[in-house]
Amino acid sequence: MVVSVSTRNARCPCGSGQKFKRCCADLADTASAAALAHAAVGKRIQAWAAVHHRDALDAAWAEITAEREVALGDVDVELIAAWIFNDSELDGGETAAGLYSRLDELDADERDIAERIAGVRLGLMRVVRVAPGLWIELEDHTRQDLVRVISLGVSAHVSPGDMIVARRMNGPPAPSLWGPVGLVSADTGPSLSALIQARIITLGLNEGTDAVAKAMHNASMEITILLSPALHRPVLERRAA
Ligand SMILES: [Zn+2]
Repeated sequence: MVVSVSTRNARCPCGSGQKFKRCCADLADTASAAALAHAAVGKRIQAWAAVHHRDALDAAWAEITAEREVALGDVDVELIAAWIFNDSELDGGETAAGLYSRLDELDADERDIAERIAGVRLGLMRVVRVAPGLWIELEDHTRQDLVRVISLGVSAHVSPGDMIVARRMNGPPAPSLWGPVGLVSADTGPSLSALIQARIITLGLNEGTDAVAKAMHNASMEITILLSPALHRPVLERRAA
């Protein structure tokens, strides 16, 4: 991942007025190294699951893309892959990341990162403040708190007021976003709210604390379809029929 601060002598994107190199450069370097380490573990989870749970992965892929003869773009594939490895339950009701995180042969660092990846869940968040190339301050409607996530990439593409569907990962070095981020549009927003509300009722969840998080996890496939440009249309047409 590339930090979108072009020169270390430029003013820091955090708004401090300081030069970047004297302000948030260390933070960006640490976050960049951590993101690479996290991504490497993510790749090993996928490679391991592809060998040991091939049929379950194929079934998950078939389930989410069923009956849709559409060309999947990069965004679609990223969203679907994140759902398959982080949300869909493979053999034994566990996610691929969860199964991997409990393998005996992992060393402490690998297990720590894998456990944190396995712990991420879909969340609904509103962008409050942004330091492009550095971090995003989010109002997390799922956990009902305000959080600043390190985000070297996504932070360059969102603005205050945007609603996003993303997976929040715990630090160290700091909270970050895991996997692709879905921007909630005027088109998908109402459908998303309706879906979450309906699922809260269906599951008999009490409003408050973690109802939204549980409902979103339970509806993760439908939410992924809603956010995927290629999968989105056929679903709405079918629902209207
Ligand atoms: Zn700064």
